[in-house]
Amino acid sequence: MVAIARRRAADDVALLEPLLIAAETRAYELLGLGSIQEYGARLFGWGGRQTRERLRVASAMRSLPEMRERWARGELTYTVVRELSRVATPAEENEWIAWATTGGVRRTGHEVQQVVMRHRRGARPTDAPAPFEEQRVRVVLEMSGSEASRLAEVRSVAAQRLGHSVDDETLAKMLFDAFLRGSEAGERESSPHQVKLTVCDRCGATERESGAEGLVPVDPVVGEVALCDAQVLRAGERAAQTVPPATRRAVLRRDEGKCAVPGCRHAAFVDVHHIDRQVEGGGHELANLASLCSVHHDAAHRGRLVVRRHEGDLRFERADGQPYGAIGGAADTARCASASQHFEAVVAGTGSERFAREALRPAAGDDPVKSPDPTAGLAPRSQCGEGARRDELAPRSQRGEGARRDELAPRSHAAEAALREEVAGLLTSMGYRTREAEWLLDRALAGDELSVGRAPSKVELLRAALRAGPPRVEARKGGSRRRR
Ligand SMILES: [Zn+2]
Ligand SMILES: [Zn+2]
Repeated sequence: MVAIARRRAADDVALLEPLLIAAETRAYELLGLGSIQEYGARLFGWGGRQTRERLRVASAMRSLPEMRERWARGELTYTVVRELSRVATPAEENEWIAWATTGGVRRTGHEVQQVVMRHRRGARPTDAPAPFEEQRVRVVLEMSGSEASRLAEVRSVAAQRLGHSVDDETLAKMLFDAFLRGSEAGERESSPHQVKLTVCDRCGATERESGAEGLVPVDPVVGEVALCDAQVLRAGERAAQTVPPATRRAVLRRDEGKCAVPGCRHAAFVDVHHIDRQVEGGGHELANLASLCSVHHDAAHRGRLVVRRHEGDLRFERADGQPYGAIGGAADTARCASASQHFEAVVAGTGSERFAREALRPAAGDDPVKSPDPTAGLAPRSQCGEGARRDELAPRSQRGEGARRDELAPRSHAAEAALREEVAGLLTSMGYRTREAEWLLDRALAGDELSVGRAPSKVELLRAALRAGPPRVEARKGGSRRRR
């Protein structure tokens, strides 16, 4: 038992830096996960509070090397270190360690907590207790589940406002200040943060109004997320909510008022996401909509989280097609990173997220897409001129007919060459070398996955080429074209 305890303490210490790095680099986002808390919950079974505390302790240990060392040797436990790090600064570090380990006695976390609570930060263990106002006091709240989830919602709103996770004291302070300051200030604060974005209908180029600099370009994914569930303002028209309010309520009710991603508890800033984007012909049917928190919404448009319809239900996958919530090692994360870069490259090349989802889908099994390829009339983003407007696109019915006619056309050499060139371009934008792309296309066109007697569609050919492997590319450093 003693040996195991020592090993566990060493493991706890070994975890400190990787945990901080995971939080700082947000590597968990590559797996589609919404937060470091969710990562901690799935990997270690920690509650949100424990993950927050582990992170606080990890950053405290950077300036308390002796405590860290004694912990690594198994002389201190996690709970003791967690409490000591609330009071100890480098100046009193050794005194607190000596106090906690006097005469070889192993104090419990609770014992240490009782003493630590009565001291302010930077005090010595021998100091007289701090006045009550400066002591730490544990307050336990008991309430119904519905109020508890509202409390969690308030915490997540506070975290979004501050840009970092919020501890109990900060949360309480914000609530008390807002309450005591009166309704006037409270109302002003609670109005949602609004940013006016200008998004090109045709290519998705997005600009934000910035006081000093005029229009500045923003990440196109930000524009897509905004367009997906936004009040769209057009010159000369009244503001119209994209999703009718009744539909919005129905979606939120179906998804239990929170983000629909399994395991995600975010109930604040929930957007209504269109699985097939409106610009690609997706409508406001319940089956095409999903409630997503802002983090998962962003992940969905980056291809880090894939939302699919499956037997009348929603299915969530990581970029590489594994079920959402699966966590493997570094190679696993790299595969997700590579897959989402492929997604962004294909979206940049075709202008269609649905096309990218279909082409990169690793295995059959989800509901077939009934409508014809809606991307026939969409220009690649890079070719879009500034003046492009939605009405330059052919009406949807015509595009549909054109696409259907394409699919029924017999294989012709000229058409096949053009298609081949286009798919080769997509493959190279995904990081394949020209030679590899040609090799994959040769294999795909010679293989039996494509049906004989009719020209394959673009999505079929790209899928077949990607399955013709083995040339694999790892994630490129520079990111995809779309990000530049
Ligand atoms: Zn969306
Ligand atoms: Zn979420």
